[in-house]
Amino acid sequence: VRLGILGGGQLGRMMALAARPLDIDCLVVEPAPDPPAGPVAEVIEAAYGDPLALAALADRCDVVTVELEGVPIEALAWLAERVPVHPAPEFVAVAQDRLAEKRALRALGVRTAPFDHEAGLPAIVKTRRGGYDGRGQQFVTTSRQLAQAQSELPDPITEGLVAFGRELSVLAARGPDGTVLAWPLVANEHVDGILRVSHAGADVTPQLQADAERIVTALLERYDVQGVATVELFDTADGLVANEIAPRVHNSGHWTIEGSTTSQFEQHVRAVCGLPLGDAGLVGHSAMVNLIGTLPNLAAVLAVPGAHLHLYGKAPRPARKIGHVTITATDQATVTDGLERVRALVS
Ligand code: AMP
Repeated sequence: VRLGILGGGQLGRMMALAARPLDIDCLVVEPAPDPPAGPVAEVIEAAYGDPLALAALADRCDVVTVELEGVPIEALAWLAERVPVHPAPEFVAVAQDRLAEKRALRALGVRTAPFDHEAGLPAIVKTRRGGYDGRGQQFVTTSRQLAQAQSELPDPITEGLVAFGRELSVLAARGPDGTVLAWPLVANEHVDGILRVSHAGADVTPQLQADAERIVTALLERYDVQGVATVELFDTADGLVANEIAPRVHNSGHWTIEGSTTSQFEQHVRAVCGLPLGDAGLVGHSAMVNLIGTLPNLAAVLAVPGAHLHLYGKAPRPARKIGHVTITATDQATVTDGLERVRALVS
């Protein structure tokens, strides 16, 4: 089986690594030279919409997926006429546009931040498309700042501030037979809009877990998804508010490589290739720390009990995700301890 992947970043690299034991070959299209997926997949260095690259995918692959939502929808739609594409272009299109995303969520009865005329002040003005890791966003407190941000940012959406206690994410996979398996909720810490730390198996009530699973399941079913999808959530006094949809594997699910019986990457590969899902249960307790901008002392990280180091083969650059560390142990105390040690090493 050959799996085509649009995007050769770290998510593509980890997908290809998960595909290897299943003897699935990956063919990646990526415009950046020497991408993270390079050492583990065949790479076509071309724009995501490059006609020759797309023809090669259609020709040579049994199925095509994406590791990022920022691909031209026309390219995905062209492919979908020639080869199975998971997820469907329609779902990727929704996740590309913060306005379409909010409308889609509300159509499924899911709460979102108030937006545009509902927003009020203070507010966050975001670009509808293309922003990530907090880029393309401005926090505003006055109507003057609001007007300025709205005129500065391309294609803006204005969101009212959501008062949340913490940020959570729910990841789930839908298999070829329609089975949906979610992982336990993840609690996420962001700094400057970038994910820093994820805590697997967040301390939540069964009710909250059920609410989150209902949200992600509704999306997976509505868009007939075969594969993994993620919903970023705000945990508020009145329940869950959905912030963003990722039509793909997600940074807050990296801990599943060691911390779940089936990782998000293997689960995604299985689903898109028409194979049954694996068990999504936990293997002990886990937390994950992103390596952002610079590398810590790697020997010191590796010396932390339960620590697993993942490097993406990317050159260090400010605000760039260049790796992550997962700490997994049979007891939470060891994870908490390891997490503090790794935090101290990365800061
Ligand atoms: P996003 O790019 O939408 O994931 O936003 C980046 C981060 O900004 C989120 O992880 C939140 O910490 C914060 N944020 C985004 N939108 C809102 C909002 N409507 N209310 C409060 N905080 C927000």
